[in-house]
Amino acid sequence: MTNAIRPQPGIMDIDLYVGGKAHVAGVQNVVKLSSNENPFGPSDKAREAFARSVHQIHRYPSTDHADLRAAIADVHGMDPDRVICGVGSDEIIMLLCQAYAGPGDEVIHTEHGFLMYSISAKAVGATPVQVPERDRTTDVDAILAACTDRTRLVFLANPNNPTGTMIAEAEVARLADSLPPQAMLVLDGAYAEYVEDFDAGLALIEARGNVVMTRTFSKIYGLGGLRIGWGYGPREIIDVLNRIRQPFNLSNTQLDVAEAAVRDQAYVTKCRDENARMRHWLAEALAALGVPSDTSMANFVLARFHDAAEAEACDAWLQSQGLIVRRVASYNLPHCLRITVGDEASCRRVAHAVGEFKRGAQG
Ligand SMILES: *Cc1c(COP(=O)(O)O)cnc(C)c1O
Repeated sequence: MTNAIRPQPGIMDIDLYVGGKAHVAGVQNVVKLSSNENPFGPSDKAREAFARSVHQIHRYPSTDHADLRAAIADVHGMDPDRVICGVGSDEIIMLLCQAYAGPGDEVIHTEHGFLMYSISAKAVGATPVQVPERDRTTDVDAILAACTDRTRLVFLANPNNPTGTMIAEAEVARLADSLPPQAMLVLDGAYAEYVEDFDAGLALIEARGNVVMTRTFSKIYGLGGLRIGWGYGPREIIDVLNRIRQPFNLSNTQLDVAEAAVRDQAYVTKCRDENARMRHWLAEALAALGVPSDTSMANFVLARFHDAAEAEACDAWLQSQGLIVRRVASYNLPHCLRITVGDEASCRRVAHAVGEFKRGAQG
Protein backbone atom coordinates (compact mmCIF):
# COMPACT_ATOMS: atom_id res chain seq x y z
CA MET A 1 0.00 0.00 0.00
CA THR A 2 1.33 3.38 -0.91
CA ASN A 3 0.36 6.63 0.84
CA ALA A 4 -0.19 8.26 -2.50
CA ILE A 5 -3.48 6.41 -2.80
CA ARG A 6 -5.98 8.49 -0.85
CA PRO A 7 -9.76 8.85 -0.74
CA GLN A 8 -11.45 12.11 -1.64
CA PRO A 9 -11.53 14.88 1.00
CA GLY A 10 -14.16 14.41 3.69
CA ILE A 11 -14.53 10.65 3.40
CA MET A 12 -12.20 9.78 6.26
CA ASP A 13 -14.19 12.17 8.52
CA ILE A 14 -17.22 9.90 8.25
CA ASP A 15 -17.99 7.77 11.30
CA LEU A 16 -19.58 4.50 10.24
CA TYR A 17 -23.35 4.50 10.63
CA VAL A 18 -24.37 1.92 13.21
CA GLY A 19 -27.91 0.60 12.88
CA GLY A 20 -30.16 -0.31 15.80
CA LYS A 21 -29.07 -3.45 17.64
CA ALA A 22 -30.99 -6.65 16.90
CA HIS A 23 -29.49 -9.18 19.35
CA VAL A 24 -28.36 -9.44 22.94
CA ALA A 25 -25.79 -12.11 23.72
CA GLY A 26 -27.29 -14.85 25.86
CA VAL A 27 -30.84 -13.41 25.87
CA GLN A 28 -33.60 -15.27 24.03
CA ASN A 29 -36.89 -13.93 22.76
CA VAL A 30 -35.77 -10.32 22.35
CA VAL A 31 -38.05 -7.54 21.17
CA LYS A 32 -36.36 -5.10 18.81
CA LEU A 33 -37.55 -1.56 19.40
CA SER A 34 -34.42 0.17 18.13
CA SER A 35 -35.03 0.92 14.44
CA ASN A 36 -38.56 2.39 14.22
CA GLU A 37 -39.83 -0.59 12.27
CA ASN A 38 -43.53 -1.38 11.86
CA PRO A 39 -44.17 -4.18 14.41
CA PHE A 40 -46.78 -5.69 12.07
CA GLY A 41 -44.58 -5.76 8.96
CA PRO A 42 -45.95 -4.99 5.49
CA SER A 43 -49.54 -5.42 4.27
CA ASP A 44 -50.72 -8.77 2.91
CA LYS A 45 -50.94 -7.25 -0.56
CA ALA A 46 -47.25 -6.34 -0.39
CA ARG A 47 -46.37 -9.85 0.84
CA GLU A 48 -48.29 -11.38 -2.07
CA ALA A 49 -46.51 -9.10 -4.55
CA PHE A 50 -43.20 -10.22 -3.04
CA ALA A 51 -44.06 -13.88 -3.60
CA ARG A 52 -45.24 -13.25 -7.18
CA SER A 53 -42.10 -11.31 -8.03
CA VAL A 54 -40.05 -14.52 -8.05
CA HIS A 55 -41.32 -15.11 -11.58
CA GLN A 56 -39.64 -11.92 -12.80
CA ILE A 57 -36.21 -12.13 -11.26
CA HIS A 58 -34.47 -13.22 -14.45
CA ARG A 59 -35.67 -9.98 -16.11
CA TYR A 60 -33.92 -6.65 -15.79
CA PRO A 61 -36.19 -4.18 -14.00
CA SER A 62 -37.67 -1.05 -15.51
CA THR A 63 -35.27 1.90 -15.52
CA ASP A 64 -37.95 4.57 -15.32
CA HIS A 65 -40.03 3.06 -12.49
CA ALA A 66 -43.14 4.23 -14.35
CA ASP A 67 -45.64 1.93 -12.60
CA LEU A 68 -44.43 2.69 -9.10
CA ARG A 69 -44.25 6.42 -9.81
CA ALA A 70 -47.80 6.32 -11.18
CA ALA A 71 -49.05 4.55 -8.05
CA ILE A 72 -47.30 7.01 -5.73
CA ALA A 73 -48.60 9.97 -7.74
CA ASP A 74 -52.16 8.55 -7.73
CA VAL A 75 -52.25 8.06 -4.00
CA HIS A 76 -50.74 11.44 -3.13
CA GLY A 77 -52.18 13.61 -5.90
CA MET A 78 -48.78 14.31 -7.43
CA ASP A 79 -47.27 14.64 -10.89
CA PRO A 80 -45.73 11.22 -11.65
CA ASP A 81 -43.00 12.83 -13.77
CA ARG A 82 -41.63 14.54 -10.69
CA VAL A 83 -41.35 11.42 -8.51
CA ILE A 84 -37.96 9.70 -8.25
CA CYS A 85 -37.50 6.28 -6.64
CA GLY A 86 -34.39 5.12 -4.83
CA VAL A 87 -32.77 2.50 -2.65
CA GLY A 88 -34.37 3.82 0.51
CA SER A 89 -34.68 7.54 1.04
CA ASP A 90 -30.99 7.28 1.93
CA GLU A 91 -30.26 7.09 -1.79
CA ILE A 92 -32.32 10.21 -2.52
CA ILE A 93 -30.45 12.06 0.25
CA MET A 94 -27.14 10.94 -1.25
CA LEU A 95 -28.18 11.90 -4.80
CA LEU A 96 -29.14 15.39 -3.59
CA CYS A 97 -25.73 15.84 -1.98
CA GLN A 98 -23.90 14.48 -5.03
CA ALA A 99 -25.79 16.72 -7.42
CA TYR A 100 -25.92 19.92 -5.39
CA ALA A 101 -22.99 20.05 -2.97
CA GLY A 102 -19.25 19.68 -3.11
CA PRO A 103 -16.03 20.97 -1.51
CA GLY A 104 -16.54 24.46 -0.09
CA ASP A 105 -20.32 24.06 0.09
CA GLU A 106 -22.32 23.86 3.31
CA VAL A 107 -25.09 21.41 4.14
CA ILE A 108 -27.29 22.35 7.09
CA HIS A 109 -28.93 19.88 9.45
CA THR A 110 -30.44 20.30 12.88
CA GLU A 111 -28.77 19.49 16.20
CA HIS A 112 -30.65 16.22 16.66
CA GLY A 113 -31.02 15.47 12.96
CA PHE A 114 -30.65 12.18 11.08
CA LEU A 115 -27.01 11.09 10.78
CA MET A 116 -27.29 10.38 7.05
CA TYR A 117 -27.35 14.12 6.27
CA SER A 118 -23.84 14.77 7.57
CA ILE A 119 -22.56 11.41 6.28
CA SER A 120 -23.80 12.20 2.75
CA ALA A 121 -22.46 15.76 2.91
CA LYS A 122 -19.00 14.54 3.94
CA ALA A 123 -19.06 11.84 1.26
CA VAL A 124 -19.14 14.55 -1.42
CA GLY A 125 -16.55 16.75 0.32
CA ALA A 126 -19.10 19.32 1.52
CA THR A 127 -19.17 20.74 5.04
CA PRO A 128 -22.03 19.71 7.34
CA VAL A 129 -23.28 22.56 9.52
CA GLN A 130 -25.15 21.60 12.68
CA VAL A 131 -27.78 24.09 13.88
CA PRO A 132 -29.06 24.19 17.48
CA GLU A 133 -32.65 23.21 18.24
CA ARG A 134 -34.85 24.73 20.94
CA ASP A 135 -36.05 22.15 23.48
CA ARG A 136 -35.47 19.34 20.97
CA THR A 137 -37.53 21.15 18.33
CA THR A 138 -36.40 22.68 15.03
CA ASP A 139 -35.60 26.39 15.34
CA VAL A 140 -36.23 28.09 12.00
CA ASP A 141 -34.53 31.32 13.06
CA ALA A 142 -31.41 29.43 14.05
CA ILE A 143 -31.34 27.72 10.66
CA LEU A 144 -31.73 31.04 8.85
CA ALA A 145 -28.98 32.55 10.98
CA ALA A 146 -26.67 29.69 9.95
CA CYS A 147 -27.23 30.20 6.22
CA THR A 148 -24.40 31.71 4.19
CA ASP A 149 -23.74 32.18 0.49
CA ARG A 150 -22.22 28.68 0.58
CA THR A 151 -25.35 26.94 1.90
CA ARG A 152 -26.62 24.55 -0.77
CA LEU A 153 -28.90 22.13 1.10
CA VAL A 154 -30.96 22.37 4.29
CA PHE A 155 -32.18 19.02 5.60
CA LEU A 156 -35.20 19.02 7.89
CA ALA A 157 -37.01 15.90 9.04
CA ASN A 158 -40.59 16.77 10.01
CA PRO A 159 -41.49 14.92 12.23
CA ASN A 160 -37.87 14.61 13.28
CA ASN A 161 -36.00 11.48 14.31
CA PRO A 162 -35.00 10.89 17.12
CA THR A 163 -36.94 13.70 18.83
CA GLY A 164 -40.39 12.91 17.39
CA THR A 165 -41.26 16.61 17.38
CA MET A 166 -42.49 18.56 14.37
CA ILE A 167 -42.95 22.18 13.36
CA ALA A 168 -46.01 23.78 11.76
CA GLU A 169 -46.44 24.21 8.01
CA ALA A 170 -46.28 28.00 8.38
CA GLU A 171 -42.83 27.69 9.97
CA VAL A 172 -41.61 25.41 7.19
CA ALA A 173 -43.00 27.89 4.64
CA ARG A 174 -41.21 30.77 6.36
CA LEU A 175 -37.98 28.78 6.19
CA ALA A 176 -38.40 28.00 2.49
CA ASP A 177 -39.23 31.63 1.70
CA SER A 178 -36.26 33.04 3.61
CA LEU A 179 -33.47 30.76 2.37
CA PRO A 180 -30.73 32.27 0.24
CA PRO A 181 -31.44 31.78 -3.48
CA GLN A 182 -28.86 29.03 -4.05
CA ALA A 183 -30.14 26.86 -1.16
CA MET A 184 -32.68 24.04 -1.39
CA LEU A 185 -34.90 22.86 1.46
CA VAL A 186 -35.14 19.07 1.75
CA LEU A 187 -38.12 17.90 3.81
CA ASP A 188 -37.51 14.37 5.05
CA GLY A 189 -40.94 12.79 5.44
CA ALA A 190 -39.86 9.38 6.72
CA TYR A 191 -42.56 9.61 9.42
CA ALA A 192 -45.11 11.73 7.53
CA GLU A 193 -47.62 8.87 7.24
CA TYR A 194 -47.89 8.72 11.03
CA VAL A 195 -49.35 12.25 11.10
CA GLU A 196 -53.04 12.40 10.26
CA ASP A 197 -54.07 14.79 7.45
CA PHE A 198 -50.49 15.86 6.76
CA ASP A 199 -49.28 16.50 3.21
CA ALA A 200 -45.59 16.29 4.22
CA GLY A 201 -44.95 19.64 2.55
CA LEU A 202 -46.55 18.88 -0.82
CA ALA A 203 -48.35 22.24 -1.00
CA LEU A 204 -45.09 24.04 -0.23
CA ILE A 205 -43.33 22.16 -3.01
CA GLU A 206 -46.03 22.94 -5.54
CA ALA A 207 -45.90 26.64 -4.72
CA ARG A 208 -42.11 27.03 -4.87
CA GLY A 209 -39.04 25.99 -6.80
CA ASN A 210 -36.69 25.38 -3.88
CA VAL A 211 -38.30 22.57 -1.85
CA VAL A 212 -38.11 18.79 -2.29
CA MET A 213 -39.31 15.91 -0.11
CA THR A 214 -37.92 12.46 0.59
CA ARG A 215 -40.16 9.56 1.60
CA THR A 216 -39.69 5.92 2.51
CA PHE A 217 -41.27 2.49 2.51
CA SER A 218 -39.12 1.56 5.53
CA LYS A 219 -41.35 2.88 8.30
CA ILE A 220 -45.16 2.70 8.19
CA TYR A 221 -45.08 0.41 5.13
CA GLY A 222 -43.00 -2.11 7.08
CA LEU A 223 -40.48 -2.69 4.29
CA GLY A 224 -37.17 -1.53 5.79
CA GLY A 225 -35.51 -4.76 4.74
CA LEU A 226 -36.35 -4.25 1.09
CA ARG A 227 -34.82 -0.74 0.74
CA ILE A 228 -37.25 1.46 -1.17
CA GLY A 229 -37.67 5.22 -0.94
CA TRP A 230 -38.68 8.09 -3.14
CA GLY A 231 -38.49 11.82 -3.61
CA TYR A 232 -40.69 14.54 -5.07
CA GLY A 233 -39.85 18.05 -6.18
CA PRO A 234 -39.60 20.57 -8.98
CA ARG A 235 -39.13 19.05 -12.44
CA GLU A 236 -35.65 20.54 -12.97
CA ILE A 237 -34.33 19.08 -9.72
CA ILE A 238 -35.77 15.61 -10.30
CA ASP A 239 -34.32 15.69 -13.82
CA VAL A 240 -30.87 16.43 -12.38
CA LEU A 241 -31.12 13.56 -9.87
CA ASN A 242 -32.21 11.10 -12.57
CA ARG A 243 -29.04 11.81 -14.53
CA ILE A 244 -26.83 10.44 -11.76
CA ARG A 245 -29.19 7.71 -10.50
CA GLN A 246 -28.15 4.21 -11.50
CA PRO A 247 -30.65 3.04 -14.12
CA PHE A 248 -31.23 -0.33 -12.43
CA ASN A 249 -31.15 0.93 -8.83
CA LEU A 250 -34.37 -0.90 -7.92
CA SER A 251 -35.14 -4.57 -8.57
CA ASN A 252 -38.41 -5.94 -9.92
CA THR A 253 -39.17 -7.19 -6.43
CA GLN A 254 -38.66 -3.78 -4.85
CA LEU A 255 -40.76 -2.05 -7.49
CA ASP A 256 -43.65 -4.54 -7.40
CA VAL A 257 -43.84 -4.76 -3.62
CA ALA A 258 -43.70 -0.98 -3.19
CA GLU A 259 -46.48 -0.50 -5.74
CA ALA A 260 -48.74 -2.99 -3.96
CA ALA A 261 -47.89 -1.42 -0.60
CA VAL A 262 -48.63 2.17 -1.58
CA ARG A 263 -51.94 1.17 -3.16
CA ASP A 264 -53.05 -0.41 0.13
CA GLN A 265 -53.81 2.79 2.03
CA ALA A 266 -56.35 1.02 4.24
CA TYR A 267 -53.41 -0.82 5.80
CA VAL A 268 -51.53 2.45 6.30
CA THR A 269 -54.52 3.95 8.11
CA LYS A 270 -54.82 0.90 10.34
CA CYS A 271 -51.12 1.07 11.27
CA ARG A 272 -51.30 4.83 11.89
CA ASP A 273 -54.26 4.44 14.25
CA GLU A 274 -52.73 1.57 16.17
CA ASN A 275 -49.43 3.43 16.45
CA ALA A 276 -51.15 6.55 17.80
CA ARG A 277 -53.04 4.48 20.38
CA MET A 278 -49.96 2.65 21.67
CA ARG A 279 -47.67 5.70 21.47
CA HIS A 280 -50.05 7.61 23.69
CA TRP A 281 -50.27 4.67 26.09
CA LEU A 282 -46.50 4.23 26.25
CA ALA A 283 -45.74 7.93 26.74
CA GLU A 284 -48.27 8.11 29.60
CA ALA A 285 -46.99 4.95 31.22
CA LEU A 286 -43.40 6.20 31.12
CA ALA A 287 -44.38 9.64 32.40
CA ALA A 288 -46.14 8.01 35.35
CA LEU A 289 -42.82 6.31 36.14
CA GLY A 290 -40.95 9.63 36.11
CA VAL A 291 -39.64 9.30 32.55
CA PRO A 292 -40.95 12.25 30.49
CA SER A 293 -40.94 12.63 26.72
CA ASP A 294 -41.89 15.32 24.23
CA THR A 295 -45.14 14.81 22.34
CA SER A 296 -44.10 12.50 19.54
CA MET A 297 -45.74 12.61 16.11
CA ALA A 298 -43.90 9.52 14.87
CA ASN A 299 -43.64 5.81 15.76
CA PHE A 300 -41.26 6.18 18.65
CA VAL A 301 -40.96 7.96 21.98
CA LEU A 302 -37.82 9.78 23.10
CA ALA A 303 -37.63 8.89 26.78
CA ARG A 304 -35.66 11.39 28.89
CA PHE A 305 -33.68 10.32 31.95
CA HIS A 306 -31.92 12.43 34.58
CA ASP A 307 -28.55 12.02 32.95
CA ALA A 308 -26.51 9.87 30.61
CA ALA A 309 -25.59 7.45 33.40
CA GLU A 310 -29.24 6.72 34.18
CA ALA A 311 -30.11 6.30 30.51
CA GLU A 312 -27.21 3.87 30.08
CA ALA A 313 -28.16 1.90 33.17
CA CYS A 314 -31.78 1.66 32.06
CA ASP A 315 -30.67 0.55 28.59
CA ALA A 316 -28.52 -2.19 30.15
CA TRP A 317 -31.45 -3.33 32.32
CA LEU A 318 -33.83 -3.37 29.36
CA GLN A 319 -31.35 -5.44 27.37
CA SER A 320 -31.07 -7.95 30.19
CA GLN A 321 -34.86 -8.23 29.95
CA GLY A 322 -34.71 -8.86 26.19
CA LEU A 323 -35.79 -5.35 25.20
CA ILE A 324 -33.60 -3.54 22.69
CA VAL A 325 -34.11 0.22 22.44
CA ARG A 326 -31.88 2.87 20.86
CA ARG A 327 -29.15 4.84 22.59
CA VAL A 328 -29.03 8.26 20.97
CA ALA A 329 -25.78 9.74 22.28
CA SER A 330 -24.61 10.11 18.66
CA TYR A 331 -27.59 12.44 18.16
CA ASN A 332 -26.41 14.66 21.02
CA LEU A 333 -28.97 13.12 23.36
CA PRO A 334 -26.91 11.00 25.76
CA HIS A 335 -29.54 11.23 28.53
CA CYS A 336 -32.29 9.82 26.30
CA LEU A 337 -33.39 6.47 24.91
CA ARG A 338 -35.46 6.22 21.76
CA ILE A 339 -38.11 3.53 22.07
CA THR A 340 -39.99 2.38 18.97
CA VAL A 341 -43.73 1.94 19.50
CA GLY A 342 -44.14 -1.81 19.17
CA ASP A 343 -47.28 -3.90 19.39
CA GLU A 344 -49.30 -3.74 22.60
CA ALA A 345 -47.48 -6.64 24.29
CA SER A 346 -44.07 -5.04 23.58
CA CYS A 347 -45.17 -1.64 24.87
CA ARG A 348 -46.44 -3.27 28.07
CA ARG A 349 -43.18 -5.17 28.48
CA VAL A 350 -41.12 -1.97 28.10
CA ALA A 351 -43.24 0.00 30.56
CA HIS A 352 -43.08 -2.86 33.03
CA ALA A 353 -39.29 -3.14 32.74
CA VAL A 354 -38.72 0.61 33.05
CA GLY A 355 -40.90 0.48 36.18
CA GLU A 356 -38.72 -2.27 37.63
CA PHE A 357 -35.64 -0.23 36.79
CA LYS A 358 -37.00 2.87 38.46
CA ARG A 359 -37.87 0.85 41.58
CA GLY A 360 -34.29 -0.34 41.78
CA ALA A 361 -34.75 -3.91 40.57
CA GLN A 362 -31.60 -3.49 38.51
CA GLY A 363 -29.43 -3.14 41.61
C1 LIG B 1 -35.67 5.83 8.96
C2 LIG B 1 -35.41 7.17 8.37
C3 LIG B 1 -35.27 7.33 7.00
C4 LIG B 1 -35.48 6.15 6.09
O1 LIG B 1 -34.35 5.77 5.47
P1 LIG B 1 -34.50 4.64 4.35
O2 LIG B 1 -33.20 4.74 3.62
O3 LIG B 1 -35.63 5.05 3.49
O4 LIG B 1 -34.70 3.33 5.04
C5 LIG B 1 -35.04 8.58 6.49
N1 LIG B 1 -34.96 9.64 7.30
C6 LIG B 1 -35.13 9.55 8.62
C7 LIG B 1 -35.08 10.76 9.46
C8 LIG B 1 -35.34 8.30 9.19
O5 LIG B 1 -35.48 8.20 10.52
